[in-house]
Amino acid sequence: MRIDRFLSHMNVASRKELKVLFKAGRVRVDGTVVKDAKFKVNEATVVYVDDEPVRYQTYFYWLMNKPAGVISATTDPQKTVLDLLAPADLRDDLFPVGRLDKDTTGLLLLTNDGDLSHALLSPKKHVSKVYRATIAGIVTAEDQARFEAGLVLSDFTAQPAQLEILSVDEAQQESQITVEIHEGKFHQVKRMFHAVGKEVLTLERLKMGPLALPDDLDRGQYRALTDAELALLK
Ligand code: URA
Repeated sequence: MRIDRFLSHMNVASRKELKVLFKAGRVRVDGTVVKDAKFKVNEATVVYVDDEPVRYQTYFYWLMNKPAGVISATTDPQKTVLDLLAPADLRDDLFPVGRLDKDTTGLLLLTNDGDLSHALLSPKKHVSKVYRATIAGIVTAEDQARFEAGLVLSDFTAQPAQLEILSVDEAQQESQITVEIHEGKFHQVKRMFHAVGKEVLTLERLKMGPLALPDDLDRGQYRALTDAELALLK
């Protein structure tokens, strides 16, 4: 591929800025200054810009702790999860893997890897998701049994879901729970609680398949997936 394409794919600079870099002799390959934007490189080439190595990367994986109040979409009149990325990390081909509601927080993967996204979202794969929630009211053993039996919702019957009661606050009439579900329908957790007559007050995703929300990733922050995390998903 052309070196200008390589560098623009790697978000090094805009096409216009690249022209300046080439002209100024700030781009090198194998120790030689490259001034021709059409110079051919390949995915294994290490291109140096101002002595900083730039290596080609096809796919990008960002692990985000989504805050409430942003939309899980690529474009929206309201603020999206992509708006939380630093300009250097933002790319046109990135998208969130699945959706979390605007008021849901927690683990969200952003990538440009369509195959991985498909594998994680495909209904056939039954990738499980774990959520922690605050529920209005007292969650009971009967609720647990109903979740485990597979709740019948208006348009589908949910797979058996594992509902764990972490604590109940009789005075506040609130419960803390975790729930593991095995598909990812629109508003699924909220709808499941609605089906047992309860309301979800807060919802946070803790896990998606083998991928867990890291304790040290603050809300609104993101970082690249580690190689070990990526290996778990593939
Ligand atoms: N279930 C919901 O109801 N909302 C989400 O954002 C995710 C799962």
